[in-house]
Amino acid sequence: MKRLTLTQQERDALRRVQDLLSNTDWAQDPAAIYAKAIELLEERLLKDKLGAKKSEQTEETVGNGRRIPKAVRHAVWQRDGGCCSFVSADGHRCGERRWLQFDHRTPVALGGESTLANVRLLCRAHNLFEAERVLGEDRVTRARERAERERARHSEAKAREAARAAAREAKARAAEEKARLAAEKAAIQERDADLLSALKSLQFTPEQSARAAEATADLAQGPLEPRVRAALKVLTARLATKQDFSKTETKPAAPKSEAA
Ligand SMILES: [Zn+2]
Repeated sequence: MKRLTLTQQERDALRRVQDLLSNTDWAQDPAAIYAKAIELLEERLLKDKLGAKKSEQTEETVGNGRRIPKAVRHAVWQRDGGCCSFVSADGHRCGERRWLQFDHRTPVALGGESTLANVRLLCRAHNLFEAERVLGEDRVTRARERAERERARHSEAKAREAARAAAREAKARAAEEKARLAAEKAAIQERDADLLSALKSLQFTPEQSARAAEATADLAQGPLEPRVRAALKVLTARLATKQDFSKTETKPAAPKSEAA
Protein backbone atom coordinates (compact mmCIF):
# COMPACT_ATOMS: atom_id res chain seq x y z
CA MET A 1 0.00 0.00 0.00
CA LYS A 2 1.15 3.50 -0.78
CA ARG A 3 2.61 5.37 2.13
CA LEU A 4 0.77 8.42 3.39
CA THR A 5 2.68 11.55 4.12
CA LEU A 6 1.02 13.58 6.86
CA THR A 7 1.39 17.26 7.51
CA GLN A 8 2.16 18.46 11.04
CA GLN A 9 -1.52 19.39 11.46
CA GLU A 10 -2.66 15.92 10.38
CA ARG A 11 -0.15 14.29 12.69
CA ASP A 12 -1.57 16.37 15.55
CA ALA A 13 -5.11 15.33 14.64
CA LEU A 14 -4.04 11.67 14.52
CA ARG A 15 -2.45 12.10 17.93
CA ARG A 16 -5.69 13.58 19.34
CA VAL A 17 -7.74 10.67 17.92
CA GLN A 18 -5.29 8.18 19.42
CA ASP A 19 -5.61 10.00 22.74
CA LEU A 20 -9.40 9.71 22.61
CA LEU A 21 -9.03 5.99 21.85
CA SER A 22 -6.20 5.54 24.34
CA ASN A 23 -7.89 2.65 26.12
CA THR A 24 -8.19 0.54 22.90
CA ASP A 25 -5.22 -1.44 21.66
CA TRP A 26 -5.85 -1.28 17.92
CA ALA A 27 -5.99 2.53 17.97
CA GLN A 28 -2.26 2.71 18.49
CA ASP A 29 -1.71 1.49 14.93
CA PRO A 30 -2.18 4.41 12.46
CA ALA A 31 -3.15 1.97 9.69
CA ALA A 32 -6.04 0.68 11.81
CA ILE A 33 -7.17 4.22 12.49
CA TYR A 34 -7.01 4.92 8.75
CA ALA A 35 -9.14 1.84 8.02
CA LYS A 36 -11.69 2.80 10.69
CA ALA A 37 -11.77 6.38 9.40
CA ILE A 38 -12.47 5.19 5.87
CA GLU A 39 -15.27 2.94 7.15
CA LEU A 40 -16.82 5.80 9.08
CA LEU A 41 -16.44 8.16 6.13
CA GLU A 42 -18.18 5.68 3.81
CA GLU A 43 -21.00 5.25 6.30
CA ARG A 44 -21.35 8.97 6.59
CA LEU A 45 -21.30 9.57 2.84
CA LEU A 46 -23.87 6.87 2.17
CA LYS A 47 -26.04 8.38 4.83
CA ASP A 48 -25.67 11.77 3.13
CA LYS A 49 -26.53 10.30 -0.22
CA LEU A 50 -29.37 8.02 0.81
CA GLY A 51 -30.57 9.65 3.94
CA ALA A 52 -32.90 12.55 3.89
CA LYS A 53 -32.92 15.80 5.70
CA LYS A 54 -35.25 15.96 8.68
CA SER A 55 -37.90 17.81 6.70
CA GLU A 56 -38.02 15.03 4.09
CA GLN A 57 -38.22 12.14 6.50
CA THR A 58 -41.94 12.58 7.03
CA GLU A 59 -42.73 12.66 3.30
CA GLU A 60 -44.76 9.97 1.62
CA THR A 61 -43.08 7.22 -0.40
CA VAL A 62 -44.10 8.63 -3.75
CA GLY A 63 -42.29 11.91 -3.93
CA ASN A 64 -43.67 15.03 -5.35
CA GLY A 65 -41.56 17.00 -7.74
CA ARG A 66 -37.80 16.75 -7.96
CA ARG A 67 -37.22 15.61 -4.37
CA ILE A 68 -36.74 11.88 -3.93
CA PRO A 69 -37.98 10.35 -0.65
CA LYS A 70 -35.50 8.49 1.52
CA ALA A 71 -37.22 5.11 1.05
CA VAL A 72 -37.14 5.48 -2.75
CA ARG A 73 -33.45 6.45 -2.66
CA HIS A 74 -32.64 3.39 -0.60
CA ALA A 75 -34.60 1.10 -2.88
CA VAL A 76 -32.99 2.61 -6.00
CA TRP A 77 -29.52 2.24 -4.49
CA GLN A 78 -30.20 -1.41 -3.63
CA ARG A 79 -31.71 -2.20 -7.02
CA ASP A 80 -28.91 -0.55 -9.02
CA GLY A 81 -26.21 -2.03 -6.78
CA GLY A 82 -24.77 1.36 -5.90
CA CYS A 83 -23.44 1.99 -9.40
CA CYS A 84 -24.37 3.69 -12.66
CA SER A 85 -27.25 1.78 -14.26
CA PHE A 86 -26.68 3.09 -17.77
CA VAL A 87 -26.69 0.34 -20.41
CA SER A 88 -25.27 1.20 -23.81
CA ALA A 89 -26.83 0.19 -27.12
CA ASP A 90 -24.54 -2.85 -27.32
CA GLY A 91 -25.72 -4.03 -23.88
CA HIS A 92 -22.69 -2.90 -21.87
CA ARG A 93 -23.48 -1.61 -18.40
CA CYS A 94 -21.50 1.40 -17.21
CA GLY A 95 -21.17 0.32 -13.55
CA GLU A 96 -19.36 3.49 -12.47
CA ARG A 97 -19.33 3.80 -8.66
CA ARG A 98 -18.18 7.40 -8.49
CA TRP A 99 -20.02 10.69 -9.13
CA LEU A 100 -23.39 8.98 -8.83
CA GLN A 101 -26.60 10.95 -9.14
CA PHE A 102 -30.26 10.05 -8.86
CA ASP A 103 -31.86 10.56 -12.26
CA HIS A 104 -35.52 10.75 -13.26
CA ARG A 105 -36.00 8.62 -16.40
CA THR A 106 -38.97 10.77 -17.39
CA PRO A 107 -37.95 14.28 -16.34
CA VAL A 108 -39.99 15.96 -13.62
CA ALA A 109 -40.66 18.77 -16.10
CA LEU A 110 -42.37 16.23 -18.38
CA GLY A 111 -44.48 14.73 -15.57
CA GLY A 112 -42.00 12.13 -14.27
CA GLU A 113 -42.45 11.11 -10.63
CA SER A 114 -39.99 10.32 -7.86
CA THR A 115 -40.85 6.62 -7.77
CA LEU A 116 -38.66 3.53 -7.77
CA ALA A 117 -39.70 2.83 -11.36
CA ASN A 118 -38.82 6.29 -12.57
CA VAL A 119 -35.62 6.92 -10.61
CA ARG A 120 -32.24 5.32 -11.33
CA LEU A 121 -28.61 5.78 -10.47
CA LEU A 122 -26.45 7.37 -13.15
CA CYS A 123 -22.88 8.60 -13.08
CA ARG A 124 -22.47 12.29 -13.82
CA ALA A 125 -21.37 11.67 -17.41
CA HIS A 126 -24.34 9.46 -18.20
CA ASN A 127 -26.73 11.77 -16.41
CA LEU A 128 -25.54 14.58 -18.68
CA PHE A 129 -25.68 12.27 -21.70
CA GLU A 130 -29.28 11.26 -20.93
CA ALA A 131 -30.36 14.83 -20.24
CA GLU A 132 -28.87 15.87 -23.55
CA ARG A 133 -30.63 12.99 -25.33
CA VAL A 134 -34.03 13.78 -23.77
CA LEU A 135 -33.56 17.48 -24.45
CA GLY A 136 -32.44 16.66 -27.96
CA GLU A 137 -35.57 14.57 -28.56
CA ASP A 138 -37.64 17.41 -27.23
CA ARG A 139 -35.86 19.83 -29.55
CA VAL A 140 -36.34 17.49 -32.49
CA THR A 141 -40.05 17.14 -31.65
CA ARG A 142 -40.45 20.90 -31.36
CA ALA A 143 -38.57 21.46 -34.60
CA ARG A 144 -40.79 18.93 -36.38
CA GLU A 145 -43.95 20.54 -35.02
CA ARG A 146 -42.65 23.94 -36.07
CA ALA A 147 -41.92 22.64 -39.57
CA GLU A 148 -45.43 21.16 -39.81
CA ARG A 149 -47.01 24.44 -38.72
CA GLU A 150 -44.79 26.25 -41.21
CA ARG A 151 -45.83 23.91 -44.02
CA ALA A 152 -49.53 24.30 -43.15
CA ARG A 153 -49.17 28.09 -43.09
CA HIS A 154 -47.28 27.96 -46.37
CA SER A 155 -49.92 25.87 -48.18
CA GLU A 156 -52.69 28.04 -46.75
CA ALA A 157 -50.93 31.14 -48.04
CA LYS A 158 -50.41 29.40 -51.37
CA ALA A 159 -54.13 28.53 -51.63
CA ARG A 160 -55.08 32.11 -50.73
CA GLU A 161 -52.64 33.44 -53.32
CA ALA A 162 -54.06 31.06 -55.95
CA ALA A 163 -57.62 32.21 -55.14
CA ARG A 164 -56.52 35.84 -55.40
CA ALA A 165 -54.79 35.15 -58.71
CA ALA A 166 -57.91 33.39 -60.06
CA ALA A 167 -60.06 36.35 -58.97
CA ARG A 168 -57.62 38.77 -60.62
CA GLU A 169 -57.66 36.71 -63.80
CA ALA A 170 -61.47 36.51 -63.85
CA LYS A 171 -61.64 40.27 -63.33
CA ALA A 172 -59.14 40.84 -66.12
CA ARG A 173 -61.09 38.50 -68.42
CA ALA A 174 -64.35 40.32 -67.60
CA ALA A 175 -62.71 43.68 -68.30
CA GLU A 176 -61.29 42.31 -71.54
CA GLU A 177 -64.72 40.98 -72.55
CA LYS A 178 -66.32 44.31 -71.69
CA ALA A 179 -63.72 46.16 -73.74
CA ARG A 180 -64.20 43.72 -76.61
CA LEU A 181 -67.98 44.23 -76.55
CA ALA A 182 -67.54 48.01 -76.38
CA ALA A 183 -65.11 47.92 -79.31
CA GLU A 184 -67.49 45.70 -81.25
CA LYS A 185 -70.37 48.02 -80.52
CA ALA A 186 -68.28 51.02 -81.57
CA ALA A 187 -67.24 49.23 -84.76
CA ILE A 188 -70.86 48.36 -85.50
CA GLN A 189 -71.92 51.93 -84.84
CA GLU A 190 -69.16 53.22 -87.08
CA ARG A 191 -70.02 50.65 -89.76
CA ASP A 192 -73.73 51.46 -89.55
CA ALA A 193 -73.40 55.23 -89.19
CA ASP A 194 -73.83 55.96 -92.88
CA LEU A 195 -76.76 53.59 -93.27
CA LEU A 196 -78.47 54.90 -90.13
CA SER A 197 -78.16 58.54 -91.23
CA ALA A 198 -79.51 57.60 -94.71
CA LEU A 199 -82.50 55.81 -93.13
CA LYS A 200 -83.07 58.72 -90.75
CA SER A 201 -83.31 61.12 -93.66
CA LEU A 202 -85.93 58.75 -95.13
CA GLN A 203 -88.01 59.24 -91.94
CA PHE A 204 -87.52 55.75 -90.48
CA THR A 205 -87.54 55.50 -86.67
CA PRO A 206 -84.30 54.62 -84.84
CA GLU A 207 -85.75 51.18 -83.96
CA GLN A 208 -86.57 50.43 -87.59
CA SER A 209 -83.17 51.67 -88.72
CA ALA A 210 -81.39 49.51 -86.14
CA ARG A 211 -83.38 46.47 -87.26
CA ALA A 212 -82.50 47.10 -90.89
CA ALA A 213 -78.85 47.66 -90.00
CA GLU A 214 -78.74 44.35 -88.19
CA ALA A 215 -80.42 42.52 -91.07
CA THR A 216 -77.93 43.93 -93.58
CA ALA A 217 -74.80 43.65 -91.41
CA ASP A 218 -73.08 41.31 -93.89
CA LEU A 219 -73.15 44.09 -96.52
CA ALA A 220 -71.47 46.56 -94.19
CA GLN A 221 -68.00 46.11 -95.66
CA GLY A 222 -69.16 47.00 -99.17
CA PRO A 223 -70.35 50.30 -100.65
CA LEU A 224 -73.29 52.10 -99.04
CA GLU A 225 -75.83 52.04 -101.87
CA PRO A 226 -76.51 48.28 -102.14
CA ARG A 227 -76.85 48.12 -98.40
CA VAL A 228 -79.39 50.96 -98.29
CA ARG A 229 -81.40 49.18 -101.00
CA ALA A 230 -81.29 45.91 -99.06
CA ALA A 231 -82.32 47.74 -95.90
CA LEU A 232 -85.24 49.35 -97.64
CA LYS A 233 -86.30 45.95 -98.94
CA VAL A 234 -86.26 44.57 -95.38
CA LEU A 235 -88.21 47.52 -94.05
CA THR A 236 -90.83 47.62 -96.79
CA ALA A 237 -91.29 43.83 -96.65
CA ARG A 238 -91.97 44.14 -92.94
CA LEU A 239 -94.30 47.04 -93.45
CA ALA A 240 -96.14 45.06 -96.13
CA THR A 241 -96.40 42.04 -93.85
CA LYS A 242 -97.74 44.19 -91.08
CA GLN A 243 -100.36 45.73 -93.35
CA ASP A 244 -101.25 42.33 -94.73
CA PHE A 245 -101.78 40.89 -91.31
CA SER A 246 -104.18 43.67 -90.48
CA LYS A 247 -106.16 43.12 -93.73
CA THR A 248 -106.58 39.67 -95.14
CA GLU A 249 -105.12 36.21 -94.65
CA THR A 250 -104.38 35.45 -98.26
CA LYS A 251 -101.77 38.09 -98.88
CA PRO A 252 -98.72 36.83 -96.79
CA ALA A 253 -97.69 34.84 -99.81
CA ALA A 254 -96.21 38.03 -101.26
CA PRO A 255 -92.80 38.07 -99.43
CA LYS A 256 -92.55 34.35 -100.09
CA SER A 257 -92.89 34.69 -103.85
CA GLU A 258 -90.40 37.53 -103.69
CA ALA A 259 -87.92 35.32 -101.86
CA ALA A 260 -88.40 32.47 -104.38
ZN1 LIG B 1 -22.26 5.82 -16.22
